[in-house]
Amino acid sequence: MHLEVSLEQARQLDAQDTLRGFRDQFIFPQHEGKDVLYLCGNSLGLQPKSVRAALLQELDQWAEHGVEGHFRGNLPWMHYHKFLKEQSARLVGAHPHEVVVMNTLTVNLHLMMTSFYRPTAQRYKIMMEAGAFPSDQYAMESQVRWHGLDPETAIVEIAPREGEETLRTEDILASIEQHGDTLALVMFGGVNYYTGQFYELETIARAGHAVGAMVGFDLAHAAGNLPLRLHDWGPDFAVWCSYKYLNSGPGGPSGAFVHERHANNPDLPRFAGWWGHDEKERFQMRKGFKPMYGADGWQLSNAQILAFAAHKASLDLFDAAGMDNLRAKSVKMTAFLEQILLQANEGKNLFKIITPADPAQRGCQLSLLTDHRGKALFDYLSDNGIMADWREPNVIRFAPVPMYTSFEDVWRVGELIQGFHR
Ligand SMILES: *Cc1c(COP(=O)(O)O)cnc(C)c1O
Repeated sequence: MHLEVSLEQARQLDAQDTLRGFRDQFIFPQHEGKDVLYLCGNSLGLQPKSVRAALLQELDQWAEHGVEGHFRGNLPWMHYHKFLKEQSARLVGAHPHEVVVMNTLTVNLHLMMTSFYRPTAQRYKIMMEAGAFPSDQYAMESQVRWHGLDPETAIVEIAPREGEETLRTEDILASIEQHGDTLALVMFGGVNYYTGQFYELETIARAGHAVGAMVGFDLAHAAGNLPLRLHDWGPDFAVWCSYKYLNSGPGGPSGAFVHERHANNPDLPRFAGWWGHDEKERFQMRKGFKPMYGADGWQLSNAQILAFAAHKASLDLFDAAGMDNLRAKSVKMTAFLEQILLQANEGKNLFKIITPADPAQRGCQLSLLTDHRGKALFDYLSDNGIMADWREPNVIRFAPVPMYTSFEDVWRVGELIQGFHR
């Protein structure tokens, strides 16, 4: 067996790639004096070179102005969350007042559920995909218990059919229909972290609303990976993190979306803090919480400036590249990886790709289900300069993120796999 695609062809694809210059904007970890083949941007995106300067700028601002930094400089801290708003809105396809950057992902998931999971005796169930990211499972379970309910009966998990790895939309819809007016919340990931399946979010949102449920999405693996149209798709809320595809650094801040239809509803129950209070009165320190219009009204605390500064530096790159351009490259590059993996696997049967083959049902990640040789394959790839990740019990995930991966990188993955003998 051999790769039918040549290194020359991969290099030609790189030469045609209008986004290839963005690779130089990132810092790659080194392996034996060379850049690693970084396929792990779904877990922690690489560091943009501009982040260091952005952080230093805020340290200087602090050094120079102390507390006055809240009001001085070109990005006064007092308003820092606003400086991320337009870019975040473009990224997820929302109106600016529908998004806010704050806290971290699981915190925001809880804050959103405080408002949008309001179980009653009749309508109390949460529907979610089976095998969701553990933090989401714990969040759902603890929310249900906090309302005095039993997760066994209140959480409905939808699993793939016997012998299948990913969910069928028709099964999700049938289940929503079946649970009907007992459903309080339909909560889905955008892209499943394990299989890489991108769910049909608009269809799910419509079906959830049709039975009178609220709808929420966790876009941790979708934001920065695929173009999203949250306003039009219509979920009640969504949350995402910034350190995976959004390259904003470990523990980076989270984004939250609250649909416009809830923007001006001060009576919606929520956990409040001073940064969500009407900013005109914020410093009058009076009793009586009056939420800001839109997603801003869910803020608790003043902005985490250092984390936000790194996030902003990264969002600037997304704006410069354009999400649609990134997606066009991503579709091409993931198909290229798929083709090369299938060729390298011929006759070896080391793995099966469980991510949907349909580009509309996936982002850039491909998940390889391996057998007993899987861990050895993964270790071999690591020893040879590939940074990918391993998910128990037996999945290798490759994410050729379009911002900084080259077609040559992808080709080398195939070449390496060919050299693995077990
Ligand atoms: C990465 C990820 C998380 C992590 O949550 P943090 O609160 O940022 O630690 C949660 N949920 C999903 C779906 C994820 O992919």
